[in-house]
Amino acid sequence: MRQLGAVIIWLVASVLPTCLLASGQRQGSILVLEQSDVRSSFYADIFAGIRDEASARGQSHATIYAENLDLARFRDPQYEGSLVEHFRTKYADHPIGVIVAIGVDSLRFLQRSKATLWHDVPVVFGFVPDQPETRALLSPDTTGTFANVTLAQMIAAARAAAPDLTRIVLVGEAWKDPAIFGHWKDEMPEAGVDLAVTDLSGVNMQELRRRVAALPAQSAIIYSAIYSDGEGTFYSPAHALELVAQTANRPIVIASETFLGRGAIGGFLLLPGVIGHDAGRQAMRVLAGEPVPNIPLSAGDNVRPIFDWRQLQRWQVAESGLPQGSEIRFRTPTIVEQYRWQSLTAVAIILIQALLITGMLYERQRRHLAEIEARSRMSELAHLNRRATAGEMTASIAHELNQPLAAILSNAEAAESLLKRPSPDLAEIGEILLDIRRDDERASGVIKHLRSLLKKGEFEAELIDINDTVRDVFQFLAVQALVRGVKLETDLAGTVLHVWGDRIELEQVVLNLAMNAMDAAEQQPKERRRVIGRTEPGNGKSVVVSVVDFGQGIPAERLARVFDPFFTTKEQGMGVGLSIARTIVEMHRGRIWADQRPGGGAVFFVSLPLASADKGRTK
Ligand code: ADP
Repeated sequence: MRQLGAVIIWLVASVLPTCLLASGQRQGSILVLEQSDVRSSFYADIFAGIRDEASARGQSHATIYAENLDLARFRDPQYEGSLVEHFRTKYADHPIGVIVAIGVDSLRFLQRSKATLWHDVPVVFGFVPDQPETRALLSPDTTGTFANVTLAQMIAAARAAAPDLTRIVLVGEAWKDPAIFGHWKDEMPEAGVDLAVTDLSGVNMQELRRRVAALPAQSAIIYSAIYSDGEGTFYSPAHALELVAQTANRPIVIASETFLGRGAIGGFLLLPGVIGHDAGRQAMRVLAGEPVPNIPLSAGDNVRPIFDWRQLQRWQVAESGLPQGSEIRFRTPTIVEQYRWQSLTAVAIILIQALLITGMLYERQRRHLAEIEARSRMSELAHLNRRATAGEMTASIAHELNQPLAAILSNAEAAESLLKRPSPDLAEIGEILLDIRRDDERASGVIKHLRSLLKKGEFEAELIDINDTVRDVFQFLAVQALVRGVKLETDLAGTVLHVWGDRIELEQVVLNLAMNAMDAAEQQPKERRRVIGRTEPGNGKSVVVSVVDFGQGIPAERLARVFDPFFTTKEQGMGVGLSIARTIVEMHRGRIWADQRPGGGAVFFVSLPLASADKGRTK
């Protein structure tokens, strides 16, 4: 069984190539001829492109041979002769389906040796510029894709690297070969009209490194490729570029993707991967049996403007000044790009915080406005409250005014009758006049006080001795108290107790407390009809005013509620007096509270900051 299987495989294997050839397909093997060292990354990328295409087209079974001719380093005709001999022997029993020739030197080699080695094998080329010299190398069974970087493109890149460009510096021996970069020199009159040229092609490496270190400003280096220094030292062109870039004092423009990242700024770059794919694709078509004349020569899309970000920074070149569609490589990610999530989180937190702060500021502003509004309402209410109080006291005020007026009248009459005497007693008349003056002052004091009560003024802070406030209010209420049969007493501190505040408003507080106390006292038997106004220093930082009565007192559960607006237990009451008093006290950064008096009655306390301790006062 096993033997039979082996026979079938042998039969299929030996018949298959014949079948392929019979259906128009070619031998499934590709020979890639590289002009240079296949280990350089440029040629390695081209080779990888060809291999990818072979695999992608289902031709992965196609054998790929690769030969690097290394003609740049070995230019002896005898070497080439030995190479031909070597290939003849090597490929004698290995038929080739298609040759892929990479680089002008490979085409030149084929032009000389193809008839001997592979006379009927079609050729696909890549990495060859479109020049009369290169077209002359193409035999009829050759097709391929050209790869061109024009001098105009190199100069456009140089102008991007140095916007004030007046001179270009040519570096690289490949300038010499008309079929490789040599054509750039022919393009010069058209592309570089007004530019001066320093030609350093062919200068040995040591000298070159010295010269490029001292180039004039407004210049840029255009690097083709250096393979040797002409003195027996061979370089990979990428390494040679590195050596030049190390000392160069001006930006270097290049033409190959694999040179990027070696110290050059960039330019219009040949893309070896694309060149390899194009050549591979065309080779597969040939292998599939398509006649070469059906596959036309093409211009290719294998050049792109690409720049090295680090060099752009070094030469301070703005990205906006680069040729359109430029790609930037080696960009160092910013902190934000590097720590994307962390940055986003931080930004989110800052935003949320900003929102919260804005919200809080808005809230604060609203509260401030509401406070102003409340304050103005309160001041209106306080004014109304004072008018009501004044209204209530009309009778007693009239009475109070009547007394001095009556006294003035009787004193005036007495003075008149004294004057009628033959020898009037002038001293006595003088005393009478003094009495009249005192009574008059008393009457005008009452009127002044009443006026200030009715005045609707703005909050005005001034330094007040709280003893004066209590004394004035109790004096003002004296007649009222007399009418109501209540005894008013004051028990004032022996020292001056200064507070910052509005005189009228603080008087209103004491007035409200005293009126309430009189209301409470009124119902009581005679000996309990007393109201005491007291002042005393607090803990050194405040003063305490208390109004004591001996009335019915306030039940414990009602103590807190009495300050609520519109809370009243009186038939005619409005219930605003204490709430106004509390607002006024709080505006003075003070505190008001009520308590039971041991032995019956109520005590209302008002504590206010002492002026010397009241740092945050409103002036
Ligand atoms: P009104 O005097 O118009 O009722 P207030 O706000 O001045 O309004 O007082 C509210 C309530 O507090 C009074 O109705 C009364 O019940 C109680 N009150 C105030 N002062 C005293 C006091 N000295 N003794 C007992 N109760 C009082």
